[in-house]
Amino acid sequence: MQEAYDVVVAGAGPAGLGFAREVASRSDYSVAVLERNDDLRENDKSTGGTFLEVVEGYDLPDHVVMAGTDSVAFEGPAATGRLDIEGYVLDFPALLEFLGREAAAAGADVHTGVTVTGPLLENGGVRGVRYRSLDGESGYDRERDLRASVTVDATGPTATLTSDLGFFDRGTAQRGIGLEFEAEGRYETEGTMLFRFDHSVAPGGYAWTFPAGDGVFKAGVCWVDDFRAVHGSDATIHEHVERWVESDPRWQADRVRAKHAGEVVSNNSLDRRADDGFLAVGDAVSSINPLFGEGIRPGMQSAEMAADVALDALDAGDVSRERLAAYERRWREEKGRAWTLQRVVGELLYDFDADQQDRFVRKVDGLSPAATERLRTYELSFRDLVGLYPFAPKDLVKVPRLMRHL
Ligand SMILES: Cc1cc2nc3c(=O)[nH]c(=O)nc-3n(C[C@H](O)[C@H](O)[C@H](O)COP(=O)(O)OP(=O)(O)OC[C@H]3O[C@@H](n4cnc5c(N)ncnc54)[C@H](O)[C@@H]3O)c2cc1C
Repeated sequence: MQEAYDVVVAGAGPAGLGFAREVASRSDYSVAVLERNDDLRENDKSTGGTFLEVVEGYDLPDHVVMAGTDSVAFEGPAATGRLDIEGYVLDFPALLEFLGREAAAAGADVHTGVTVTGPLLENGGVRGVRYRSLDGESGYDRERDLRASVTVDATGPTATLTSDLGFFDRGTAQRGIGLEFEAEGRYETEGTMLFRFDHSVAPGGYAWTFPAGDGVFKAGVCWVDDFRAVHGSDATIHEHVERWVESDPRWQADRVRAKHAGEVVSNNSLDRRADDGFLAVGDAVSSINPLFGEGIRPGMQSAEMAADVALDALDAGDVSRERLAAYERRWREEKGRAWTLQRVVGELLYDFDADQQDRFVRKVDGLSPAATERLRTYELSFRDLVGLYPFAPKDLVKVPRLMRHL
């Protein structure tokens, strides 16, 4: 590995690789991506449900797309709703492999088996990273420095650099987990991304079943730890997914061919994204949507915004915090305000009782085409959100707790 690059990206998820591809393909700046896994495909946690902005916006080839869908179904314990929303289910490891190959073809050095351990701090700014990797000759795990004009944290929920730099308080982060089975078999919900809000299936979260190509589907459960504790049984998430897969007659798994799992963290770093010589993208700064946990589209969009700003800053020879904060402002403008509001709504949603879950689903079912599009793009107005909210007096006691997000 070289001793210095113009840009060093920690983490090779969709956000880090998207950033590297963008910068390498639009400039001659030297770019290195450091990924702790030995293979990009090992980051295999995600269902890969996404939308046109990702598939067309980032020129994904057909082999990355496992299935297309034309509707989104919402279910409560006793209610159903359906919206005409087109979507796609991606092969997540194939997405990473594709982005990695594209970034490398554009000139980026993508290094696997390299763990970033912390930022390299000098004169009040970030000047690169410290990292560990196996030394080819000695076989020893050695720590070294890698210098860069711009350092990017794209380490996902691990948030290796942003947590070290104090971008957020780990203690206040809201944590959740998700697990899904990718199964071969029969399913009747073809063409639909199905979400079920029902604490008996997914306490404090939701369950989903998405098509994933001919005779293949993905079915999983996720929850927010705080609300799982309130609504949950003693069953593990693995037991919940098994039950979801086995007990619903609309699908039948003949063979579970893969399991995908991971952590989702929503922290209070929403508006803090830049520092002197430093940018953070994707889930390293909670770009994931706090309402439904969709993270690929916003993560890649954050990477694109950050790459625009990084290229301007490098061209101007000025990577100061003032200059790089243009990215923070753009994020705030385009996503941050909506994300703040939706964190509040998400906190209510995953704590709804069964009656509220059903009322919510019926309200979603009644959305106009224009409001449906605002839901898809997370541009719901305050009025839309109030309209969707199934009020219950018990929620009034939550107000002081919810205010912390504002
Ligand atoms: C079960 C599950 C299902 C999901 N389903 C969907 C879905 O259907 N649609 C959707 O849009 N989103 C989904 N998500 C969320 C989505 O996968 C994430 O939001 C998205 O992957 C975030 O991208 P990222 O690049 O920011 O981070 P990540 O994908 O987390 O990538 C971070 C990378 O950094 C590496 N890394 C971490 N620490 C270090 C370090 N110290 N040094 C070097 N490398 C490091 C990791 O190995 C990883 O490869 C799901 C998540 C889970 C857990």
